[in-house]
Amino acid sequence: MRAFYRTKGEPAGAETTPTAYVRTHVTGPAKLRPISPSGSRPKVVIIGAGFAGLEAARALSRAAVDIVLLDKKNHHCFQPLLYQVATAALSPADVAWPIRSIVSGQENVSVMMADVCAVDQESKIVRTKEGDRFLYDYLVIATGAYSSYFSHPEWAEYAPGLKTIEDATRIRAKILTGFERAEKATLEAEIRKFMTFVVVGGGPTGVELAGSIAEIAHSVLVRDFRKINPQSARVVLVEAGPRILPSFPADLSDYTKKILSDIGVEVLTGQAVTDCDDQGVSLAGGERIESACVLWAAGVKASPAAEWLGIEGDRAGRVPVNEFLQLPGNADVFVIGDTASVRSGGKPVPGLAPAAKQMGQYVGKHIARVVSGYESARPFVYRHQGDLATIGRKSAVVAFNRTKLKGVVGWLVWSIAHIYFLIGARNRAVVAINWLWEYLTFQRGARLIS
Ligand SMILES: Cc1cc2nc3c(=O)[nH]c(=O)nc-3n(C[C@H](O)[C@H](O)[C@H](O)COP(=O)(O)OP(=O)(O)OC[C@H]3O[C@@H](n4cnc5c(N)ncnc54)[C@H](O)[C@@H]3O)c2cc1C
Repeated sequence: MRAFYRTKGEPAGAETTPTAYVRTHVTGPAKLRPISPSGSRPKVVIIGAGFAGLEAARALSRAAVDIVLLDKKNHHCFQPLLYQVATAALSPADVAWPIRSIVSGQENVSVMMADVCAVDQESKIVRTKEGDRFLYDYLVIATGAYSSYFSHPEWAEYAPGLKTIEDATRIRAKILTGFERAEKATLEAEIRKFMTFVVVGGGPTGVELAGSIAEIAHSVLVRDFRKINPQSARVVLVEAGPRILPSFPADLSDYTKKILSDIGVEVLTGQAVTDCDDQGVSLAGGERIESACVLWAAGVKASPAAEWLGIEGDRAGRVPVNEFLQLPGNADVFVIGDTASVRSGGKPVPGLAPAAKQMGQYVGKHIARVVSGYESARPFVYRHQGDLATIGRKSAVVAFNRTKLKGVVGWLVWSIAHIYFLIGARNRAVVAINWLWEYLTFQRGARLIS
């Protein structure tokens, strides 16, 4: 048998193979380092160990394939609870887990920490910023989405978005530092600026952030400062559209707006941000809000997978895929989760965790069938599991088909759903105990500026 490896610097095409199933990937300079002892099985490279990528790997657990799971981070992050890290209710380790330990029991998976920057479809190679190359027979791209500042990328510097653990700790520091600086400030205008918090974007993340900041200011910190009164903090939620939570039924949006007002959040709808700097934001209506803490929850754009594949993404940069979640014209490349643009039942599949997991499971099973010799597969069908958003420490809204829940009942459903979806018994226990403690004492243990 001839060599089916490629080393750094070797020209494309050097590893042409009689069958697609005998390649072994190589990493490191001039070193042949097979990932798996079985060099002859189809190689599946999965980029991204988020909800979609992990589920794809899991669905391939019994398949006769070798999987290389690439992620630029060493941890999987449970994004739905990131806002609780950003607002000091949970610690980073409560919502993130080492990818290696998640898949350690699955023998056909190898994890590589690698920042992917290109895909060569012809040679079936994934390239990374570190200079490594990974050969694949099947490629699954599940690299998620980033915050989008529309045509103003410069605003990112002043208004951090919430996507990663690093974002959450940065936001936490920004919020807590505001109170610290206000305590030291002498001018009234300065104090007001440090104690004004603006959240841009009235979707679930914006609502959750704004509600949680109001709670910190109005309940948690009340007794902790001597000069300032944290209860006088101003929390503003700015939404460009006509209502917050636009994906929810209108009555739940109205209810959310009322609860936010009750807990001290000013909700401004129909107000697009026209400018943003380190001193605050300007709104389309002409209002200027001076604030040292502007947070961005207004939009997302897909990871640059479309660029890697040399195709045009949709408006949000997502890769249009067919009903089998394959790249049109290339049945060996799948794009799933927040990076994919796909319709099911005539509607676009939303950028939600259950959608990403369903796509991952579908693609994993699809590849398992194909490598077992079955050609056909049913098209992907998305099953919506509902929309949930929490508003405060005992209120949430839930919309599922015709069922609508709100208030404490909604909050209980929201809490149980989120604890259920967390990975690992330790995290479930820690989060549940933290929430109970916070509920009873109004305390938040993770108030660290780091
Ligand atoms: C703050 C927030 C709150 C949310 N709340 C909810 C909620 O309550 N309910 C809900 O259903 N959904 C919620 N979502 C949406 C949900 O989290 C996403 O839809 C889901 O994470 C998408 O899964 P994914 O696998 O496509 O991407 P992700 O989970 O984002 O995973 C992408 C992975 O790819 C990796 N990656 C990215 N680029 C590269 C690269 N170049 N090289 C290597 N690896 C790379 C990343 O490190 C990451 O691990 C929320 C999202 C956010 C940001």
